[in-house]
Amino acid sequence: MRRQSGIFCAKRLSKAFTSTLTSVIERVDSRKTTTTTTHHLLSPIADRNWKDTSQSGSVQEDFDSAIPAEAPTEHYIIQENKYPAIRALRSDAEIGDGIWRCCHCRHENIIMHYKGGFPFKHLVCSRCNEILCSSCHSTEIISPLPYGMIQAPQPGSDCEVRYFHVCTTCGLSHRAEMEDTTLDFYGVKCAGCGSTSYGDWPRYHIGNNEPYRRDPDASFVKLVDARADDAARQTFRWIIANEDGPSSGLSCRNSK
Ligand SMILES: [Zn+2]
Ligand SMILES: [Zn+2]
Ligand SMILES: [Zn+2]
Repeated sequence: MRRQSGIFCAKRLSKAFTSTLTSVIERVDSRKTTTTTTHHLLSPIADRNWKDTSQSGSVQEDFDSAIPAEAPTEHYIIQENKYPAIRALRSDAEIGDGIWRCCHCRHENIIMHYKGGFPFKHLVCSRCNEILCSSCHSTEIISPLPYGMIQAPQPGSDCEVRYFHVCTTCGLSHRAEMEDTTLDFYGVKCAGCGSTSYGDWPRYHIGNNEPYRRDPDASFVKLVDARADDAARQTFRWIIANEDGPSSGLSCRNSK
């Protein structure tokens, strides 16, 4: 069964490849470009575009599907909550796999990890429309990945890559591709808005949803604390940078 669907995918891919290549040639013709462009077509960039657009046959299907990637919450996890009866009233669909707290408006956005190429769909704040960024805070399900880090252990045979990056134009999350133990974040065309990543989209690791599923409220409080810590650190840095002596301008003004 699994094998058959693999063959079907391969067929679909080769079909998409043909149509994509034609459209690239059409575009080149219409621009009346010289042989340099033809050469460009054979460069790794053109090859890369083929690879990414070839997936677009299934992009819509993938995008529309909403199959949770994480297992349903085990009963014992709910029982270990301080208020298990109240916790049990909230389904996994309501709770999601975690939250990210928007750094712009502080709205807590519930996020859900889905199977497929767009693990969290659009990571756009539902209140202010800003995209998840490095100053936002989130529960364990997502954590920022340093830019230099591209080596990771291979996922198990039935598991998907637990790394992704986020389009800086529209906020659509794209699951990273992996070749052996090397993560590939380069040359991806956004399936949502068409912008291209040159490896510059923010990268994230997909972690664990258990602490959050166990006690969503406690996880949220932790986020608020993290935000407060950051704010305090920033203020401290500001004071150090702006202080010009023991008697600051502020205290002078206050004493008058
Ligand atoms: Zn917001
Ligand atoms: Zn942010
Ligand atoms: Zn996009």
